[in-house]
Formats: sequence, C-alpha cells, structure tokens
Amino acid sequence: METTILNDMRPRPVNLFDFNKQAMQDYFISLGDKAFRGTQVFQWLHQHGVTDFEKMTNLSKQSRLELQKRADVKLLDPIVDKTSVDGTRKWLFRLDDGNSIETVFIPEGDRGTLCVSSQVGCALNCSFCSTGAMGFNRNLSTGEIIAQVWLARKLLTEVNPESKITNVVMMGMGEPLLNYDNVISAMDIMMDDNAYGLSKYRVTLSTSGVVPKMLELSEDSACSLAVSLHAPTDELRTQLVPINKKYPIALLMDTCKQFFAKEPRRKVTFEYTMIKGVNDSDECAHQLKRLLKDVPCKINLIPFNPFEKSNYQCSSWKRIMAFQKILVDAGFNTLVRKTRGQDIDAACGQLMGNFIDRTRRSTMERKEITP
Ligand code: SAH
Ligand code: SF4
Repeated sequence: METTILNDMRPRPVNLFDFNKQAMQDYFISLGDKAFRGTQVFQWLHQHGVTDFEKMTNLSKQSRLELQKRADVKLLDPIVDKTSVDGTRKWLFRLDDGNSIETVFIPEGDRGTLCVSSQVGCALNCSFCSTGAMGFNRNLSTGEIIAQVWLARKLLTEVNPESKITNVVMMGMGEPLLNYDNVISAMDIMMDDNAYGLSKYRVTLSTSGVVPKMLELSEDSACSLAVSLHAPTDELRTQLVPINKKYPIALLMDTCKQFFAKEPRRKVTFEYTMIKGVNDSDECAHQLKRLLKDVPCKINLIPFNPFEKSNYQCSSWKRIMAFQKILVDAGFNTLVRKTRGQDIDAACGQLMGNFIDRTRRSTMERKEITP
C-alpha cells in the first residue's frame, strides 16, 4: 500500500487555556464575534470546568461550530498520582512533548495549597535544588500552567467534592520570573473572578531574585511575593544561589523594599532553607536579622529536603529552633515549615510538599512563634 505524506498546511488549533480573559475576548473579536462571548467561554472553562464546546449551552450553534473547527483545550496526562497519609497529593503530569512536570496539593484544615510548576527544569542551578540539578529544558505555556490548576481541581473534587484549592504558590519546578509573560497571564486567570477567583494574597510567586523582572512584576501583577534568600552574605548566597552574582543581596533588598511601595501593609516572605553546617549558625541568624532590619517581611525557614546527588543535609531540629528564636527575639514573624507528604516523596527536593500556607498564622503544628 502506498502512503502519501501530505504537508499539512492547516493552522494548528489554538489552545484556549493559553488565554487570560482579555486575550480570550480579543480572540472572539478576531473571529468577528462579541467580547462577551469570550468571557462566557472563559467562565465555562475555568469557573465551571467544562471543556466540551457542545456543553457550553449559552453559545450559539454557530459559535460552537466555529470553536470546534479552530480551537482546542489541551489537558495534561497524569502519569503519577499519589496521596500521602497526611492528605498531600502529588501528580506527575506528562506534557505533549513527552516532558513531565510536578504539581503538589497540600491540604491543611480549611486551606488547600497547590504548588505549581512554571518551567521544565531550571537554568539557575541552585546547589541545593533537585530541579536545578536537572538543568533547563523549556518554559511552560500559559495553558500548561493553568492546566495544572484545572486538573488538580478536577481530580481532587472527584475524590472529595468538598476539596478546595484556596491558595496557589508558584514554587514547583522552574524560576517563574524567567517565564514572565506566561506566568503573569496564568496568574491573571487564577485571580480572575470569572475563573478561579483567588485573592491576590493567595497567589504567591516565589523567585530566586531576578531583580529586573521583580520590578516589572510589581507593576504587572497584584500577586504576593516570596524571595528565596537562603543566606545573609553575598559570599555564601552566591555558593547556594548562583544568580546572586548577577543580582547581589544589597540590590535584592532594595528591590524587596520597593516591591509593595504602593501597598505598604503587604510584606515580602523570605524563604531560607536550613542546611546543616552551611547557613544555619547563630552567626548567620544574627547577620540575617541585621540584613532584614528595614525590610517589611516575614521569614519562612524550610527544612532542607535531601535528594539523590546532593551532598547537603538538613539542619537538626534543635538548630532550626535556635535559629528561629534569634529571629523571633529580634521581632521577626518567623515560621518553620512542617514537612509534608514524605511517604510519597512529595517534597522532591524542591517541590513544596512541605509548604505551609503562609497567610495563616494560627496553626501550632507549624511551630510558629510570633513575638
Ligand atoms: N525558582 C523559584 C521557585 C521554585 S523553588 C525559587 O527559587 O524561588 C521553590 C522553593 O523551594 C525555593 O525557596 C527554593 O529555594 C526551595 N528549595 C529548592 N530546593 C530545596 C530543597 N532541596 N529543600 C528545601 N527547599 C528547597
Ligand atoms: Fe531554579 Fe528555584 Fe531550584 Fe534555584 S531553587 S534551581 S531558581 S527552581
């Protein structure tokens, strides 16, 4: 039998998950339709979780046919789906090109935090991070970022209809500020009342300190900010977070001070991974308190998650407590993250299986001490 390979010149269908509300409205206008049709489809997809155009009952037959011809909604394939005894759930999602990414859900009382990936791998090569050790493969599209939220909600409510994603943290694989446009647009969707409707206090971007993009971010998004600090001096931070060479601590601190200039009551969260014998001494804690003296902030101490090929170890619990006490005595709101999902390896080096919602302050389990 003879096979003819035709060069397929048809335009590829657009992935409607790539659009925030504005882009969706623009898309419908470009089809000669009305902007509000775009809003309706946006609501179907994200508010109601409906991806089948046939079920979008307030669209005209004509609009539905048009969408069927031109558009698509691309989901991800869950190839691993594990639930920990503590309720933490972790997925490995396969992307179209065969790569995979991790997403983790951490329930805690009436809260549910979803930790979302922004890139396949990461180029920044922090010495204590398993994603860094993988190297960089590619950026995720807006559609691939938001599909993690869409799918997590679907898979969670299938098991428990009461289950809710109340917070999203961009703390999965990758450096979100190096995939700027797609991350901003995905966070727009998370915070849009016609979609997931999360408040700006409950969508957090975590960065290793890409200073120029941080300045842009404060203009372009209302999200909350976490900064991966991990060391109080340039010498030590450059060893742990190599991008510090380009954007050293003084510059990073100036940027953090400016970040919420328009909303002075909001605070940056500093993340500080506790690594035995590396950054966990009393001296480091005292240096840290001097460094952060004038920066409105909260501090999260994260027990280091060991992973294969890493030579570091986690600080002892006693050391972490002593480190925390120095900061608390100096007046800093300092939390120690509880380790979560260890039996399913949810921590994964850096996927925040141990992330604890930082908007809540009352849970004793988190070993919180507020001065
Ligand atoms: N690239 C961004 C967001 C992803 S990393 C960033 O670096 O902020 C999310 C958080 O996990 C960061 O604070 C990171 O420093 C921390 N992390 C990475 N590897 C870790 C490990 N092995 N143990 C504990 N925390 C880790
Ligand atoms: Fe990248 Fe963040 Fe890991 Fe550093 S800690 S390598 S920036 S993912």
